[in-house]
Amino acid sequence: MANLKRKVVLVGTGMVGMSFAYAALNQSVCDELVLVDLNEVRARGEAMDLNHGLAFSNSSMQIYFGSYADCSDADIVVICAGVAQKEGETRLQLLARNYKVFESIVPRVVSSGFKGIFLVATNPVDIMTRITYELSGFNSAKVIGSGTTLDTARLRYLLGSYFEVDPRHMHAYVIGEHGDSEFVPWSQAIMAVSPVYDVIADNQNRYKFEDLDKIEEEVRTAAYQIIKAKGSTYYGIGMAICRIVRAIFHNENSVFTVSVRLRGEYGLRKEVFIGHPCIINSNGANRNLELKLMTKEIEQFKQSYEILDESFLSISK
Ligand code: NAD
Repeated sequence: MANLKRKVVLVGTGMVGMSFAYAALNQSVCDELVLVDLNEVRARGEAMDLNHGLAFSNSSMQIYFGSYADCSDADIVVICAGVAQKEGETRLQLLARNYKVFESIVPRVVSSGFKGIFLVATNPVDIMTRITYELSGFNSAKVIGSGTTLDTARLRYLLGSYFEVDPRHMHAYVIGEHGDSEFVPWSQAIMAVSPVYDVIADNQNRYKFEDLDKIEEEVRTAAYQIIKAKGSTYYGIGMAICRIVRAIFHNENSVFTVSVRLRGEYGLRKEVFIGHPCIINSNGANRNLELKLMTKEIEQFKQSYEILDESFLSISK
C-alpha cells in the first residue's frame, strides 16, 4: 500500500459513487476518502453532507473534495463517473459516451503518479474496465471492474429465498458480460454442500428445474426492473464496490465475479475483460478460478466473450 492510511479516491459522485461512499463510511472501510467529480459543486456538497454524518458513525474517516492530484498516494481509485443507463437502453449503448468520459479521467489519474488499483463500476462495466486497462497501461491485476458481482449477489438472494437457505450458503455465480448475455453456470451451483441440480432431482415434489430459468431471468432483468421503478440502481452496486474495497484492504483472498482479464482460460485467447470468479487481495485480481463448465455453458461464455470483444473493437474503429 502506498500510504499508511487506507486511501480511496472516488471519481464520480453521482448516485452509484455516493452509495459506495455512504457504505464506505458506515462500514469504515478506509481512512481517507477523496471525492472528485466534473461537477465540483456537487462533489463539495456531497463531502459536506457525509462529514456531517461522521459524528454518528464509528469512523474517523477523513472525507474531502479533491482533484486528480490526490490520486498520487491513493491505494484505490474507484470510478463511477459517467452517464447512467436510461430506461430501455442497453449497457452497450452507453459505451460511446462513457469512453469519452474515461479519456478525460484515466490519463489524469495516471499522471498523478498513482500506483494503486483501479476499481471500475461505470457501465458497460466490462468494456469500461478494459478501456481503463488500455488507457492506463497498468498491469491487468491492478485493473478490476465490478463485473457480475452484483448479479451474483442478486442470484444468491433469490436462491436463498427459493430454497429457504441463507444466501451466504448458496454458492452460485453469474458470469460473463454484466448485461444481457450474462448467465448462471448451474452445473457449478452448490447449496451449502450439495449441487443444486441434485437438490432439485432429489426433491421434485418441492422444486422444479424450470424455476432455475425463472430465477436466472429475474437476475438478468433486475436492473431493467429497478430502472423502470425508480430511475436507476445504486444501493446494491454501492455495497458491492465497498465489499471489494474491503477485500483489497484486508488482503482477504475472497472470491468475486469481478470483471478481469482472462489469460487463456477455456481456450479463449483474445484479451477480454469479463465477469469471472477471481481471488481478490491487496495485489488486486490475484488469480482466476477456472470452472469445469459443461459444453453448453462454455458456448454461453464464448458468446458473451465475443459480444464484449466486438463492442470494444467497435469503439476503436
Ligand atoms: P449519475 O449520473 O448519478 O452520476 C454520474 C456522475 O459522473 C455525475 O456526478 C457526473 O457529474 C460525473 N461525471 C460525468 N462525467 C465526468 C467526468 N468526465 N469526470 C468526472 N466526473 C464525471 O450516474 P450513476 O447512477 O451514479 O451511475 C454511474 C455509472 O454507474 C453509470 O455508468 C451506470 O450505468 C453505472 N452503474 C453500474 C452498475 C454496475 O453493476 N456496475 C450498477 C448501476 C449503475
